[in-house]
Amino acid sequence: MTSPAPYGLTGDDQPFWDNAREGRLVFQRCDECAYVRWPAAGVCPECLARQSTWTEVEGTGTLWSFVVYHRAYAADLKEQIPYPVALVELDCGVRLLGRLVDMDPGDAVVGMPLTVRYREVGEHGVVPAFGPAD
Ligand SMILES: [Zn+2]
Repeated sequence: MTSPAPYGLTGDDQPFWDNAREGRLVFQRCDECAYVRWPAAGVCPECLARQSTWTEVEGTGTLWSFVVYHRAYAADLKEQIPYPVALVELDCGVRLLGRLVDMDPGDAVVGMPLTVRYREVGEHGVVPAFGPAD
């Protein structure tokens, strides 16, 4: 049974959220040029092909940038402020936003290796988050 994607806007990304709930990170891989894309879309931004296959990727990458939120943009995050949010460049090329977890935000350094973890975020369900590589 599927439930609505926590942050989905178009529904194209429903497989991403369904797999996150199961602890897998998946993106659309273009069937023509193999470009891995995010956000999900109906056509490949590289070659404009429509055919793609949802493909599991390694949840490894590096910290590309991050911010520390001092304001909660959802009521269920209010007790967690301040909290860091990272932009992670995955090894597959996708840049993905996610919470930075299992570390002191003061220890975050751009370029540090990270791995994906999964966190339940209130009514939003399970979302990918990132912490220091093992
Ligand atoms: Zn393509």
